[in-house]
Amino acid sequence: MAELLKGKPIADKIKEEIKNEVESLKKDTGLSPRLMALQIGENASSEVYLKAQVNTAQGLGIEYILKRLPKEATQKQAEEEIISLNKDKSVSAVILQLPVPPQIDAKKLVNLIEPAKDAEGMHPQNLGQVLLGKWKLAPCTASACLALIESTGVNLYGKEAVIVGHSEIVGKPLSLMLLSKFATTTVCHIATGERGVLPEHVKKAEVLVVAVGKAGLIKGDWVKEGAIVIDVGINKVADKIVGDVDFEEASKRAGFITPVPGGVGPLTTTMLMKNTLEAFKIHNLKSR
Ligand code: NAD
Repeated sequence: MAELLKGKPIADKIKEEIKNEVESLKKDTGLSPRLMALQIGENASSEVYLKAQVNTAQGLGIEYILKRLPKEATQKQAEEEIISLNKDKSVSAVILQLPVPPQIDAKKLVNLIEPAKDAEGMHPQNLGQVLLGKWKLAPCTASACLALIESTGVNLYGKEAVIVGHSEIVGKPLSLMLLSKFATTTVCHIATGERGVLPEHVKKAEVLVVAVGKAGLIKGDWVKEGAIVIDVGINKVADKIVGDVDFEEASKRAGFITPVPGGVGPLTTTMLMKNTLEAFKIHNLKSR
C-alpha cells in the first residue's frame, strides 16, 4: 500500500523557512516582501484562490495587495498598470489573476511583467532559466510537483520519469526540471492518448506526474510497483473533487501517491510566496 504524499506537511516546512527568512530580512533591511495581485473584472473561482493567497501571505509576513481593474478595462489600461507596478520600487512581485475578460490578452500582460518581479515564474525569461537548469523564479505548480517528488528522498538520477500533460504551467517546465536532475523524462499528451500508447509509457514510470484534467484517465493497473505518483488533476465528479489517477487501485501498487485534494494544491500557493521572497531578495540584496 502506497505512502500518502500529502502537500500540507511539506508546505508547512517551506512556509516556516520563508517566515524565518522574511523576519530576518526585515531586521536587516527594514523592508518586507510585497506581492501585488492584479485582478481584472470579477470571477467566483479566482476569489477562492485570492483568499488562500491573502491568508498564506499574511501568515508569512508578506504584504499582499490586491489591485482590481473593472471588467471593462482595456488592454492598454492593464498594460499601464503592469508598467507602473514594474517601476514601483516598493513592489517585490506581481501576479496577474486568471481568468481575465475576453478583451484582455493575458499572455501579453505576463510578458510585460518585469522578469525579476514575476511571482508565477511564467515570463519567457524565467522559463528560459528553467531550460538552462538555473531557475530562481519557476512556475509554481511545477515547483510544487518537484518538491513533492524530492520529499520522498528519491535520487532522480537515471530514473524513468513520465509526465502526462504538456501545459506551459506544469508539464513542460517540470519536464525540464526533471531533466536537469538527470531523470530520463518522457512527456505524454493528447496525441499520445489518441495513438493508444499512453498505458505503455505510464507502465514504465518510476516517477509519474499526471496533469490533464480527466478523471480516471490513468488506470490503477498501469502504475508500476513502487512508483511515485503525483496527481495534479482537479476534477469535479458528483460533488467530489478527484484527480486524474484511479486513486484506489493505484495506491495498491504505488510507493507514494498524492491525494486529491490535499496533494499538489496546498503547495502551489506556498511556491507563489517562495517566488515572492526570491523576487524581494533579487531586488534588495546587493549580492544577488
Ligand atoms: P491543460 O488543461 O492546459 O492541458 C491538458 C494537457 O492534457 C495537455 O497537455 C493535453 O495534451 C493533455 N491531454 C488531454 N487529454 C489527454 C489524454 N487523453 N491523454 C493524454 N494527455 C491528454 O493542463 P493544465 O493547465 O496543466 O491542467 C491540468 C490539470 O491540472 C487540470 O485538472 C487543472 O485543474 C489541474 N491543475 C492543478 C493545479 C494545482 O495546484 N493542484 C495547478 C494547475 C493545474
